[in-house]
Amino acid sequence: MNVVIVGGGASGVLVALCVMRKGAHTDTIVVIDDGQNIGEGVAYARVNEHYLLNVRAIGMSAYHDQPMHFVEWLREAKDYHDAEGFVPRHWYAEYLRHEMAVQIQQSNVQLTIHRGVAQHIDRTTHRVTCVGGKQYDADVVVMAIGNLASQNPVQRWNTIPTRLCDWRKFHPGVINADERIIIIGSGLTMIDQIVALHASGFKGQVVAVSRHGYIPKTHVDRQSYPCPITVADADLPLSVLLRKIRTAIQHAQQAGVPWQAVIDSIRPHTQGIWRRWNVNVQQRFLRHLRAIWDVHRHRMAPEISQRIHQMITAGQLHVIAGRIQGYVETQDGVQIMLEKNGQSQVLSGNIAINCTGPASTYVTTHVPIVYALAADGVVTPHENGIGLHINELGQLVNATGLVEPWLWCIGSMRKGADWECTAIPDIRVHAHQLVSALYNHERTV
Ligand SMILES: Cc1cc2nc3c(=O)[nH]c(=O)nc-3n(C[C@H](O)[C@H](O)[C@H](O)COP(=O)(O)OP(=O)(O)OC[C@H]3O[C@@H](n4cnc5c(N)ncnc54)[C@H](O)[C@@H]3O)c2cc1C
Repeated sequence: MNVVIVGGGASGVLVALCVMRKGAHTDTIVVIDDGQNIGEGVAYARVNEHYLLNVRAIGMSAYHDQPMHFVEWLREAKDYHDAEGFVPRHWYAEYLRHEMAVQIQQSNVQLTIHRGVAQHIDRTTHRVTCVGGKQYDADVVVMAIGNLASQNPVQRWNTIPTRLCDWRKFHPGVINADERIIIIGSGLTMIDQIVALHASGFKGQVVAVSRHGYIPKTHVDRQSYPCPITVADADLPLSVLLRKIRTAIQHAQQAGVPWQAVIDSIRPHTQGIWRRWNVNVQQRFLRHLRAIWDVHRHRMAPEISQRIHQMITAGQLHVIAGRIQGYVETQDGVQIMLEKNGQSQVLSGNIAINCTGPASTYVTTHVPIVYALAADGVVTPHENGIGLHINELGQLVNATGLVEPWLWCIGSMRKGADWECTAIPDIRVHAHQLVSALYNHERTV
């Protein structure tokens, strides 16, 4: 079997590792990636030494059936011994590359890594063509292209703003230490920017603005708690389900157990609940509960949280809620007009950083590798508006409702179908299921 994986971030590498562990000497894998180094993707590049994983070491093994694998590597390679700790993010890419090297030695499968951009997948021949003309024939193509870039949040007022920088391109070196920065978005990518600014000796002011003004909550020492809900509770009205969780949190807190333990206890069931909800309920959740869910579910490491709250206390970081109602660039800065509960406010800064989170509509966004497949009806958007229409294994479902048995996806593209699909504990399970399904299918044809 010839497997071509488009994207060599964590998802692509985890799929490649599973194929290498399972495959035969007649199998080949090609991983096509246009990033700096394989395994890095957007999350694990050595952009800043101060960025920490936001999942404990014990949650980050590459293999679902070897939960201590990353912890053991940390002991060996880094002399780091705290399984519950939050380690530098770039160590994770190092770990993935090390594991690739181990599997290359041990596996019968022949691996090729192509550094470049895959730009076309032929729906009939399944041939993948890269920029520059190199082509790879595939029996199976796995799209692991990660998140889309963020949309321009001030598009209505300025289609090409020059003082609004995307978080992926922002570098603290481009600003003076005493400037005033506006960050649009207040999730974990905003937190990353603050950490980088702080580490660079930035002494100026930061104002982070988002619709609700929430920031991610903090991880605390792990404790177990019985899960208060089951997948069958997905049939309850959303408000009743929410009340059940709130009551469980109150009981936990009365018993001295932090709310984080209750949220973590729900984690094994969230995918099941999401899948059981119909599209209307999913969309209602996205509209009304997503922001509050995200800050409780996607939390900061305690060390990072301490730094952020020190900056808030010192008045260096302000987080405010509001809807953007206007955007103006002047010669030396930007002005953002906000509205909250009928009140207007104008924010001024030297520059703004876009941390609004990734776009979620792969089909309408002009991503070349998806574009032609979308035009041919091979890939279609998920009904709820985020990610792609797939079956439970991650195979694409085309415009006529039929599964494309040769075309799979992993990572953020699965969000509409699975909800939980972008953190390593989910990606490694999806990678395992995907590869198991590939080989089971091969044995039965
Ligand atoms: C800043 C940040 C921090 C995070 N921290 C954690 C964490 O601590 N723990 C955790 O579990 N999760 C974390 N996550 C979640 C994270 O999304 C995943 O763990 C992981 O990055 C997902 O990897 P991916 O391969 O799906 O996507 P990506 O990391 O985006 O990788 C996709 C890769 O595909 C390449 N690519 C895309 N299109 C093409 C193409 N056409 N041709 C060739 N190459 C292409 C991209 O260049 C990139 O290298 C974090 C996410 C972010 C954004």
